[in-house]
Amino acid sequence: VRILVTNDDGVTSPGLVALATAAFEELGEVRIVAPDRDHSSGSHAVTSRRPVRYRPTRLGRFPGYAVDGTPADCVTVGKALWPDVTMVLSGINLGTNVGFQTWYSATVAAARQAALLGVRRAVAFSLECRHRVANFDRVDPWVRRVLRLIQTVPEPYVLNVNIPDAPGGIVWCEQDVSPCTASVLGGTDPQGQPYAWLLVAPCDEPPPGTDREALARGLIAITPLSVDLTESAKLKASRRGTTGSTVSPSREGEGR
Ligand code: MN
Repeated sequence: VRILVTNDDGVTSPGLVALATAAFEELGEVRIVAPDRDHSSGSHAVTSRRPVRYRPTRLGRFPGYAVDGTPADCVTVGKALWPDVTMVLSGINLGTNVGFQTWYSATVAAARQAALLGVRRAVAFSLECRHRVANFDRVDPWVRRVLRLIQTVPEPYVLNVNIPDAPGGIVWCEQDVSPCTASVLGGTDPQGQPYAWLLVAPCDEPPPGTDREALARGLIAITPLSVDLTESAKLKASRRGTTGSTVSPSREGEGR
């Protein structure tokens, strides 16, 4: 197993070496290609209007590269530098990526980028940080348990793993897609300019069987993610509503 490890918090994050160490000791050969700065909430951004620069770096016992691009870029660069990558691990992120956060997460996006590039095993790891403190030592045995568990999952897969502060078990979950509420906390800065903090939060209690509910129960949530955004039921219903396989502009709506 040749494992590329990346993250979105940047090369200085302790979560990166924590994941690389667990992967090396449990699974195989590890290299790190990670962004040179924090890209949290950057989702699946890629760099296309300028070249990306990368420099060799050493993180603990691991050789690697620091990239002045996004986490998705890091996977692209890493795969070009190391063509035989069989697995991409992203994280361990400082903070959870459940429910709507899954869309914003650049940790998850790096795993998804791996799938888009044909890597058949991709896993994003995120850790709940209560009071902004992450205890990687405490969750290390659980990270290793998850790494061993996913060896039994049929390929290809993209998995979103979220680890609570003090885990009590592991469950397979759906992504929570219940509605969110957005708020804006505004003010005026010392130079007289207005600013706004944009806050998004879930508005309901998490439904049973979801990632958010699992974390609330102190369980590690593993959610298999799909790269295909097609809504299959809607596609099927829409196709049933048209006579042919194509709809011409003048005949739209006819034939029902
Ligand atoms: Mn992050």
